[in-house]
Amino acid sequence: MEKDHFSAASSVYEEHNKKVILKKDKEQSVKRYHPWIFSGAIRKITGNPVEGDIVEVFSAQEEFLALGHFQIGSIAVRIFSFHQVKPDLDFWHKKIETAFRLRLLIGLADNSQTTVYRLVNGEGDNMPGLVIDYYNGIAVMQTHSVGMYRMRHQLGHILKKLYGNKLTAVYDKSEATIPVKAGLEVKNEFLWGNLSRVTVTENNFNFFVDVAEGQKTGFFIDQRDNRKLLSNYCNGKNVLNVFCYTGGFSVYAALNHANLVDSVDSSVTAIEMTNENIRLNELSAGIHRSFCMDAFAFLRDIKNKYDVIVLDPPAFAKHQRALSNALQAYKRINQLALEQLRPGGILFTFSCSQVVSRENFRKSVFAAAANAQRNVEILHQLTQPPDHPVSIYHPEGEYLKGLVLFVE
Ligand code: SAH
Repeated sequence: MEKDHFSAASSVYEEHNKKVILKKDKEQSVKRYHPWIFSGAIRKITGNPVEGDIVEVFSAQEEFLALGHFQIGSIAVRIFSFHQVKPDLDFWHKKIETAFRLRLLIGLADNSQTTVYRLVNGEGDNMPGLVIDYYNGIAVMQTHSVGMYRMRHQLGHILKKLYGNKLTAVYDKSEATIPVKAGLEVKNEFLWGNLSRVTVTENNFNFFVDVAEGQKTGFFIDQRDNRKLLSNYCNGKNVLNVFCYTGGFSVYAALNHANLVDSVDSSVTAIEMTNENIRLNELSAGIHRSFCMDAFAFLRDIKNKYDVIVLDPPAFAKHQRALSNALQAYKRINQLALEQLRPGGILFTFSCSQVVSRENFRKSVFAAAANAQRNVEILHQLTQPPDHPVSIYHPEGEYLKGLVLFVE
C-alpha cells in the first residue's frame, strides 16, 4: 500500500502533469532558493494535485523552478529540489545520507559520549516537512507535511539501511504535527520495532527518554551545547532550573559541583523523569529537589536563594498573532528572575518561539532588566547546535535564542 504511494508519487512526476505556475514576478524567492511557495504567489495549478502530491513549480514564463510537496494552506509547496530530478527512493536515500554525513562531520553520529542527535532538521537539511531524531538506536520521525507523511515507510526503510543493526526501532510521531484539516487521522505508531524507552548519553551524562510518552520527539536535543555551557557556572552555586522537563540542565549542574539544584516543571511526568534522571546519574542525595508547580508561581518568592537560574520555557508564541502576548510573558518571567537573583548571579534565558526574533527577545529581556533595576551584562548569545542547521536561504529556521547574563 505504502509502496504504491511512493511509486504513485514518482509516476506523478514522470507524467509532468501536476504543475504549479506562479504569478508574474513571483519567482524571485524561489530563484533565491527559499523553500516555500505561498498560495498567494500562485497563478494556476494544473493536474488537480491533492495534498502530499509532488508538483513541479514553473514561473509565469513556464521556466522550471523547483519540485516540491503540495499542500492546501498558506504554504502551498514545500520545495525539496531546485533541479529537474526524479524523486525516487535513491534520491531520498542520498538526501538522508548527506544529512548523516554532516552529523559525522560535526562529531555526533559516531560518538560514544553522545548517542542522541537530530539527523534531519527540515528545511535546514533541504527536507522541508521532515524531522528525524536519533535516540541511541531509536529513530523518531516527525512529519509536518502530508507529502513527507506519505513517504514515512520509505523513509523508515532508508533509515534501516543506513544504520543497520544499530537501529532498534523507527517511531512515527506525526499525530500532532500533521495539520488536522488534512483529514488523515494520523496516529503515532512504530513503523518498525516497538521499543519506546531508551537510555541515551549526552556529553557523557545519561538520560532516560520515552519517545512515545515524552514531549516533542522525547528530549530537547537542541539544548545540548547550552547545557554544557551551564557546567562552567555551577561550582559551589545554588542553581534553579525552571521549565526543567526531564532535568537536562539539572543533571549537568549537579554533576558539575553545584551546591544545590532545584528543578521546576508543571508536568507531573516531567518531574518524575527528572527524578529518575537524577538517580540514573547517581547524584548524591540532598543536592537536588523537584517542584511540580507553575513556574510563574514558583518564581514569585525566591529572593536571594539562587546564584544561577535557567529559564527555558515552552514556545510562548506559536503564531504571529500571539506575538505581543508572548513578548509580555518573556518580559514577566525574566523580570521575576532578574529581580531576585543573588548579586553577581547568572541567568540563562531562552526563547524557542520561531515567531519571536532574536531582536524582539532581547528587547523583552532588556525591558525586564530595566524594570528589575539591575545592572546586566550579556556574556553569551546562544542558539541551536549544528545538528539543527539553518539553511542560509531560510533564516526562519533559526528558532532557538538564548542569552547568558551576568547580573551585578
Ligand atoms: N529545559 C528543558 C526543556 C524545557 S521544555 C530541557 O533541557 O530538556 C518546556 C517545559 O516547560 C515542559 O517540560 C513543560 O511541561 C514546562 N511548562 C510549560 N508551562 C509551564 C508552566 N507554566 N510552569 C512550569 N512548567 C511549565
